Amino acid sequence: MRVGIGFDSHRFVEGRPLVLGGVVIPHDRGLDGHSDADVLTHAIVDALLGALAFGDIGTHFPDTDPRWRGTDSRVFLREATRLVRDHGHEIANVDATVITESPRLAPFVARMRAALADTMGVDAATVSVKATTAERLGAFGRGEGMAALAVAALEEIDTE
Ligand SMILES: [Zn+2]
Repeated sequence: MRVGIGFDSHRFVEGRPLVLGGVVIPHDRGLDGHSDADVLTHAIVDALLGALAFGDIGTHFPDTDPRWRGTDSRVFLREATRLVRDHGHEIANVDATVITESPRLAPFVARMRAALADTMGVDAATVSVKATTAERLGAFGRGEGMAALAVAALEEIDTE
């Protein structure tokens, strides 16, 4: 069993869609970034890469590479999942928390879990997504951006 942790944050900006876990969430602002800035997916990618001790999302998909401009972050998640399986592991479970004052994410949790599970090729029961606020504390509490934390556990595939 191997375990990895991931953390990511992005600033809110006007004029971009808000994408979380591969799901477009209706909101007046989106997240700024080189790719689609899907903070939840990025945290999960980092957790998977961390569990393999394979560096982080910036190592594999540098934001200086024009290939990744505006990229659907599910591409990164699919690649991280491929690395997990290529190195003899399967995803045991993923648990993630999104930290934001708004919008309210509860109505979208089931869709985000389903979309993430689909991208990773696992059952929705393998993926947990939770949402919390920062209780109006600090930059996230002022609604300047959004953060996400994720933990991933990998089990070794029995190759006998
Ligand atoms: Zn990111």
